[in-house]
Amino acid sequence: MNLTNFRLETDSDGVALLTWDMPGRSMNVITPDVIDELEKVVEHVAADAAIKGCVITSGKETFSGGADLSMLQVAAAEYRKALRDKGEEEAARLFFEASRRLSLVYRKLETCGKPFAAAINGLCLGGAFELALACHYRVVADVDKARVGLPEIKVGLFPGAGGTQRVARLMHTGDALQMLFKGEQIRPKAAKTMNLVHEAAPAGEILARAKSFIAGGGKGVAPWDESTFKLPSGKVFSPQGMMVWPAANAIYRRETHDNYPAAKAILHSVYEGLQLPMDLALRVESRWFAKILRSPEAAAMIRTLFVSMGELNKGARRPAHAPAAPIKKVGVIGAGFMGAGIAYVTAGAGMDVVLIDRDQAAADKGKSVCDQLISGQVLKGRAKTAEKEALLGRIKPSADYEDLAGADLVIEAVFEDRAIKADVTRKARLALGPNAVFASNTSTLPIGSLAEAYAEPEQFIGIHFFSPVEKMALVEVILGEKTGDRALAVALDFIRAIKKTPIVVNDSRGFFANRCVGNYIREGHLMLLEGAPPALIENVAKMAGMPVGPLALNDEVALDLALKILEATKQDLGEAAVDADQEALLRAMVKGHGRLGRKNGKGFYDYPAQGPKFLWPGLADFQKAKLDPDRIDIAEFKRRFLVAQALEAARAIEEGVVTDPREADVGSIIGFGFAPFTGGVLSYIDGMGAANFVVLCDELRRKYGPRFTPPQILIDMARGHETFYGRFANEAKRVA
Ligand code: NAD
Repeated sequence: MNLTNFRLETDSDGVALLTWDMPGRSMNVITPDVIDELEKVVEHVAADAAIKGCVITSGKETFSGGADLSMLQVAAAEYRKALRDKGEEEAARLFFEASRRLSLVYRKLETCGKPFAAAINGLCLGGAFELALACHYRVVADVDKARVGLPEIKVGLFPGAGGTQRVARLMHTGDALQMLFKGEQIRPKAAKTMNLVHEAAPAGEILARAKSFIAGGGKGVAPWDESTFKLPSGKVFSPQGMMVWPAANAIYRRETHDNYPAAKAILHSVYEGLQLPMDLALRVESRWFAKILRSPEAAAMIRTLFVSMGELNKGARRPAHAPAAPIKKVGVIGAGFMGAGIAYVTAGAGMDVVLIDRDQAAADKGKSVCDQLISGQVLKGRAKTAEKEALLGRIKPSADYEDLAGADLVIEAVFEDRAIKADVTRKARLALGPNAVFASNTSTLPIGSLAEAYAEPEQFIGIHFFSPVEKMALVEVILGEKTGDRALAVALDFIRAIKKTPIVVNDSRGFFANRCVGNYIREGHLMLLEGAPPALIENVAKMAGMPVGPLALNDEVALDLALKILEATKQDLGEAAVDADQEALLRAMVKGHGRLGRKNGKGFYDYPAQGPKFLWPGLADFQKAKLDPDRIDIAEFKRRFLVAQALEAARAIEEGVVTDPREADVGSIIGFGFAPFTGGVLSYIDGMGAANFVVLCDELRRKYGPRFTPPQILIDMARGHETFYGRFANEAKRVA
């Protein structure tokens, strides 16, 4: 048999072993060729009387990450072409047939009459796990890196190759829905407990166990194809079923605010599918899948969270000519809140760290924070004691700058004070050679001016982390006027090593993310002053797709910090640069009431020692008038939150702070949780069209003031029917 992506061999017991091992790739992915070859194999196994059954495994380090999502982008483009050339009905028919091809091949495998077993040696996700689910037996290697799961929901899709139907027939409906909604990666033992696999076995034994299932006469019939099969939660229309569905609907609303069509399609698919025999159920699933695949939400999320994020992680902005040199030793100056976090993630990635502070005790304190962080991981079973010791062994706390000698990169995270920063920068340079790269983690000071303290300003760059460092995936890299390509390459190589996602921005006040976030929080403050009930403000923000309400977010960041930033902005740019009402509110909260946020247990919320936080009743005193909640235009409030942020992103593009829409979109979702279903701040504008967005801005400007004035770039784009991505592609072509 002529196969490119698989090897097929049959042993003396008549058990075939199909090894998935795609040439020229480090990981197996599902492509149209893979689907074709798999179908051929199934037909061959079914037809050859000498073959009893087949074990599927992988020749790579892991099993497979699932489908190549760019294949879905191609399918969507083909649909648009067919729509133009052949009309809607024919285009829809063709699209439906193409999008269910994988599902049909898996069903063919499941019903071909011969048993199939999956020997899962590592990560097995999405379409690859759906392949395993279609097999009659599944053994997963019980090793650290092995995970199974269906994460499609994270890019606006859902498992459309039988996943929703098979999972809902393997476990209780409530558990199945939760698994499909969360899209989590599940460890081997948990997968066994959840009934998703038959065995979690030592890595060296998975092949033998899968083979012995077949050699021992394992059946080639799925449980749901047996006449005796009973659904784990009983029938949908039964007292048991009715315990599940009303709650499931309510949870869906609470978790998604109806923003995610893929989540709704999961509900439909499971609810309708469980009332049907498998073949029809799969057809229903395919119908929903074809619909979701064409949804703007899936297109936007795939582009931003899969394609663009992958490109940024692989170094899309890295200057290609700068040689890659491994970063072995990193200096961190300032062992406070941020410095300790930076030291922790750096040592966690295998680099040696010198952690410097004003004296040994302060440096030791920073290291003890790293100890607490890694000890927490050990307690949760996510790290081993030996890993903890190795990580801590790589961190050297010190007050002696000489210890920085030989460092490839130094990151300072001392107080946000120009003079202190200049002082530590100079001291560090004395200990470092001329080749080291020096970075500042400042959140507000221009990189160009900080670089003046460094002998080689071309080696000076901004590496701006978000707090808490160990959790936040985004890092902003800031280029000063003189920053050179080598410094950028080193910064990006470092960020890649610590497995975070970089965006590269030009020097400016607030850089990118904090500018957008600042506008989001301000909108919440102003709604409060207009008289909107605080709880309504927080809830509407979540309905708009934000993960945390603006008042809660401000409490996390700290109110005194927000006030400080406003004061500094006013000092540098003049009175008109800040909103006087917002400043008065923050001043009253911080100076008048001593409310600093979560850090002192009182901000917009009260944080009792015991029990959950609650909105501070005193907020009512800031409201001259009270709006009637029943008359508040909720849709308009939602738009205000998103438009305020998207406008700021458009301004950042206009000013040349951000130069690539992919970075604005990815940065907005992973940096501050901008409504993921939109695909990010600029996809939000592109999605509705610049002309509609400008109309919306004008309406909001008339009602709420000049902060909603659209920048010229948007007006030009509206006139020319342009999109950010279109402009960017044209610009890239022009440069090439
Ligand atoms: P922090 O007060 O927790 O830590 C600052 C540390 O610097 C302290 O340990 C202090 O002892 C040390 N330090 C002060 N002067 C020093 C000197 N001369 N030599 C050596 N060490 C000295 O502050 P932080 O919140 O970690 O912020 C540090 C930097 O990171 C600031 O530039 C801040 O703007 C930036 N930043 C903070 C956040 C955040 O959320 N806190 C987020 C992004 C960036």
